[in-house]
Amino acid sequence: MTTSASTIQPARVRFAPSPTGYLHLGGLRTALFDWLYARHTGGQFILRIEDTDQKRYNPESLNDLMTSLRWLGLDWDEGPDVGGPYGPYTQSERKDLYAQYIEPLIESGHAYRCYCTAERLDGVREEQRKNGQPPGYDRHCRYLSPEERANLAAQGLPSVVRLAVPEDGSTTFVDLIRGNITTDNRQLQDAVLIKSDGMPTYHFAVVVDDQLMKITHVLRGQEWLASAPLHQILYDAFGWTPPIFVHLPIILDPSGKGKMSKRKTVVAGKEYLALVHEFIEAGYLPSAMFNFLTNVGWSYDASQEVFAVEDAIERFDLSSINPSPAALPYDKLDWLNGLYIRELTPAALKEAVLPFLVRDLGRTEAELRADARLDILVPLIQERIKRLDEAAGWIDWAFVEADEIQYDEPSLLLGKKLDAAQSAAVLARGGELLKTLDPFTADAMQEAFRSAADEMDVKAGSFFGPFRAAISGKQVSPPLFESMEALGRVEVLRRIENAMQVLNREAVAGS
Ligand code: GLU
Repeated sequence: MTTSASTIQPARVRFAPSPTGYLHLGGLRTALFDWLYARHTGGQFILRIEDTDQKRYNPESLNDLMTSLRWLGLDWDEGPDVGGPYGPYTQSERKDLYAQYIEPLIESGHAYRCYCTAERLDGVREEQRKNGQPPGYDRHCRYLSPEERANLAAQGLPSVVRLAVPEDGSTTFVDLIRGNITTDNRQLQDAVLIKSDGMPTYHFAVVVDDQLMKITHVLRGQEWLASAPLHQILYDAFGWTPPIFVHLPIILDPSGKGKMSKRKTVVAGKEYLALVHEFIEAGYLPSAMFNFLTNVGWSYDASQEVFAVEDAIERFDLSSINPSPAALPYDKLDWLNGLYIRELTPAALKEAVLPFLVRDLGRTEAELRADARLDILVPLIQERIKRLDEAAGWIDWAFVEADEIQYDEPSLLLGKKLDAAQSAAVLARGGELLKTLDPFTADAMQEAFRSAADEMDVKAGSFFGPFRAAISGKQVSPPLFESMEALGRVEVLRRIENAMQVLNREAVAGS
């Protein structure tokens, strides 16, 4: 059943990463689903930075995060850089606000100050370990008398604030795709809400912020399921209605056995990327990644693999997200990427590969942009690459001096079924023709080479082979005649000359 647009309430959905490292593909999937749902409902996509764990703060991660989101086209309506009506959107800048919200909880007995020192807590844990009990806080400070409490406060000792989890009974929260989830309260810890430096912990900040920012839907990874009962207890303590929770399925590693790795891994010789910047640097197109990732845990249509962003927005819904773990079909990503690469116009493909060529060919962008050879070469590789980082490997030979082409394996220069002397003769004949060929175009070359092959009674393929190797130093290269046209007469003749010398040496050695 599809809901008609008029009945959909605009949702306020947030992506709330902790800036502790480079963004993982799983995080990008969460952000994508957030964004899709916000756009589907005509609501807002909010970026909130959860940096209350200052020890784990990584200054590079914010830039990486924003670059990654923008790369995929996920624009946010409110966030640390663009502001918005419920800012600030960085938790470390909201410290005073959390302080206001913790006091009423302490007064109503839903939270309490705890003065236990690290040494005491270590001792408790050690004792629990000895007795085979699960580790956890023993609630020592929860049961202090008012006098003891006043005494400790008067001494100005450092303290944290803990949640007073109900001692018995159970807590139930609703997950849209998983149903009611009930936890026995005896399984829950009196989690710290405010640390001794006054900073809130994740649990407290997330609840206060989702409430104050009027978040309607919380989409986050399945690993946060265990935290949700604590959040529900906090919502109940405040008397607030929680947002709709959707815990997204975890992404599995290629073997399907465990959770997807946090960094790139190599399994049976194949590399599996994990961080968004790795995918960007490998030359995946945002359009392909968008299409691919939308289908990880959700399905656009079982019979349609390729779809447009607008169509995904139109169709996206939360209730059909599949809660079971989803494996990442890397081969499908490569296939999709090849498909989207082939859809680009030559100009767009040139633009897309430029940064990769700058990186891999060691040329400046201005140089490459002005290089007419690229206008011929880039369309030639369009059918041949699945990732943009493969581009340089196909055309690098065109950007070196003739003498830098090494014919380390002279056998590469042999035409099929031809020996060194015969291959050298082919090169000599072709070189003769190319010297005066006018116009110096792929079509003219093709015609001249075919009749020369006939005259010499050599198969066309055997005639072409030595030239391919001579100009590129490789067995596989883009189409020969266009490649020679791109390289230009002088450079082609130089390479043919060099290759002939190698073959002639071979011929002498072999005779
Ligand atoms: N800051 C948490 C993270 O790093 C967010 C969890 C949530 O969305 O509630 O993933």
